Amino acid sequence: MRGQAQPKRALLIAAAGGHSLLLVGPPGTGKSMLAQRLPGLLPGLDADDALDVASIASVSGVGFVPRDFGRRPFRAPHHSASASAIIGGGPHARPGEASLAHRGVLFLDELPEFNRNVLESLREPLESGVVAIARAALRVEYPARFQLIAAMNPCPCGYLGDVSGRCRCAPPEIARYRARISGPLLDRIDLRVEVPAVPSEELLAEGAVHDAASSTAGCAQRVRAARELQHVRMGKLNADLSGKEIQEACALDRLCRRLLAQARSKLQLSARGIHRVLRVARTIADLAEPEKPTGPRIQSISPVHLAEALQLRRAVD
Ligand SMILES: [Zn+2]
Repeated sequence: MRGQAQPKRALLIAAAGGHSLLLVGPPGTGKSMLAQRLPGLLPGLDADDALDVASIASVSGVGFVPRDFGRRPFRAPHHSASASAIIGGGPHARPGEASLAHRGVLFLDELPEFNRNVLESLREPLESGVVAIARAALRVEYPARFQLIAAMNPCPCGYLGDVSGRCRCAPPEIARYRARISGPLLDRIDLRVEVPAVPSEELLAEGAVHDAASSTAGCAQRVRAARELQHVRMGKLNADLSGKEIQEACALDRLCRRLLAQARSKLQLSARGIHRVLRVARTIADLAEPEKPTGPRIQSISPVHLAEALQLRRAVD
C-alpha cells in the first residue's frame, strides 16, 4: 500500500471518528485494499459487542465462526446482491449483510452498480443503526451499526482524467453514472476522496520511507487515543454527534467561522453538509499531536483542521 497519502489519511480519520468514507478512483489503484485495512485500525470489540456480533452471525445463513469471536466484522457483498441479502429477510427473516457488519465495516465496491432499492434501503440503518424486517406476521429488528466504506470509478469506463486519455465517456453518461447514487445517501457519507493512479516514480521514492506513524500499529495507536478523547468529551464518536452536540463540541474561533462562511457559499454546503464538515474537523483536531508535550491533549478546531475537513469531501461534488 504505497503512495496514496490523502486516501490513507482519510482512512485514518474515518477510523478515528467512525466516519463513512467514499473512495473514487480508476480500477487497480487499491481502493479495496485500503478498505480492508480499516478493521485493523479499529480497537477490538468489547465483550457486549462481541456477543452481539456472534449472535447475529449465528442466526444468519453465514453461521458463527469461533475464531472470529471479538473481531470486527468486514463484509463486502457483491453489487448484484438483492435487497434482502443486504438488509435481511427471506422466509426465516434472517439478518443481512448490514447486520453482519454490525460494529464492523460494510464495504460496497462499485457503489453505482448496486440496485437503487438496495442503496435506498441502507439509509435507515445508516441513520438509526437498526434494520426492521417485516415478513407476514413476523416483524424482526436486527442491530446494524456498521461503518460504511464505498468505492466507485470516476466514470463508467473508469479512466476519467487518466493521463493516457483513454476515457471516451460523454459528460451526460458520467452524470447519469454518478446520479445512480442518490443525494440523500451521498449526504450521509462524511469523507469523499479521490484515489488516483500513482505514477511509478512516486512509488519508488516512497518505497524508502516507512516511519512508525504510518505503520498499521502506529495508526491503530493514534486511533485508540483519538477515540478515548471523544468518549471522555461526549460519550460517543464524533460521527454520531447530533446537531446540538456539534455546537457544544465544535466551538469555532473567529478565523474558523470566516473560513466556514466562505466555504459555505463557494461550495454551496447544506446545513447537513456543514455538520459533516464540523464532525470531521473535530476528529482531525482529536488526531493532532499537542504542540508542546506538556500542552493540553484536547485541541480546539483550528483553521488548518477545518480546511482539511473541507478538502476531504470534495470528490464527486
Ligand atoms: Zn470514462
